[in-house]
Amino acid sequence: MISRGAFLALTLAASATVRARAAPGSSDADPALSANTQELRVLLGRGTVTGSSPDGFTFNERAYRGSATPLADGTIVNTLPLEAYLYSVVPREMTPSWPPAALQAQAVCARTYVLARSNPQRAYDVVPSELDQVYAGIASETPAGRAAVDSTSAQVLRFGDGFARVMYSSCCGGHTESSTGAWGGVPIPYLSGIVCTTCTDSPYYRWNRALDLGAVAQVFASELQPVAPLQAVQQGVADASGRASDFVLHGAHGDVPIKGGAFRLRIGTRVLPSLLITQFEPSTEAPERIAIEGGGLGHGVGLCQWGARGRALEGASFTDILHFYFPGTEIEHD
Ligand SMILES: [Zn+2]
Repeated sequence: MISRGAFLALTLAASATVRARAAPGSSDADPALSANTQELRVLLGRGTVTGSSPDGFTFNERAYRGSATPLADGTIVNTLPLEAYLYSVVPREMTPSWPPAALQAQAVCARTYVLARSNPQRAYDVVPSELDQVYAGIASETPAGRAAVDSTSAQVLRFGDGFARVMYSSCCGGHTESSTGAWGGVPIPYLSGIVCTTCTDSPYYRWNRALDLGAVAQVFASELQPVAPLQAVQQGVADASGRASDFVLHGAHGDVPIKGGAFRLRIGTRVLPSLLITQFEPSTEAPERIAIEGGGLGHGVGLCQWGARGRALEGASFTDILHFYFPGTEIEHD
């Protein structure tokens, strides 16, 4: 499982992906992209390359598979087979001791995500951070991660003629979010939000937090400037999954609405692990403090990773898991 900070970034990346990607059947279906033959280009950034050999190289004292090529601006791009890239990604995006079927579902998600991102027109395909997927070279590989990649070799999630738009996050809290609820846009049939009963083992399945009005006033100082001082914060309506669509900052001289996703990211994902909020009220002990109860960690769209773990423990295969979280998609050899 990736960290809370990682999920913040992943949320941003996923959001951008939803908005930027073409509809299934257009550029997503580029026949030149194949999981079997694809070489992926990862932008490592600035640093020192040493010890290059046919097997790999060392960049900033970390070992990588594939080759290192400098771009014109001096940054280094790591080119390697897609499947080798996934060896490093899967154990970083999901706890490698989890059941094989959950890791296999993660591998198919990670492969599909990156194939849909690949673009020969750009100097690189992905960055190695949460903005795309976490990639840290050979050191993060594990036998279980490699087994998950090898046993699902070249398998991707498709919808219609194109790659499915794959999203995942740590724990949905009991109901996954729709893509439209999280980011707006055109509804995506397989990302419409479903009941998930198997993520209850997550430490974030239910949580309590406290938020000081002063902290809210500081974060939204520019928006509040015309109506200050801030007097109260209210959770707005919930969407179909139960997540807060917006919040209202009540100032002495008027109200300021803030979209739910923006509110969570700016307040911080440590304070608001998700927008699935069941209570948002002034604390009985300290009225300037808001007592919050909620569930889940992350945006909640697509695969619920803790839910996938739970389903795997119940005996589900990775195809069962993927069909459950992305209903109507097909798992195919690319
Ligand atoms: Zn779940």
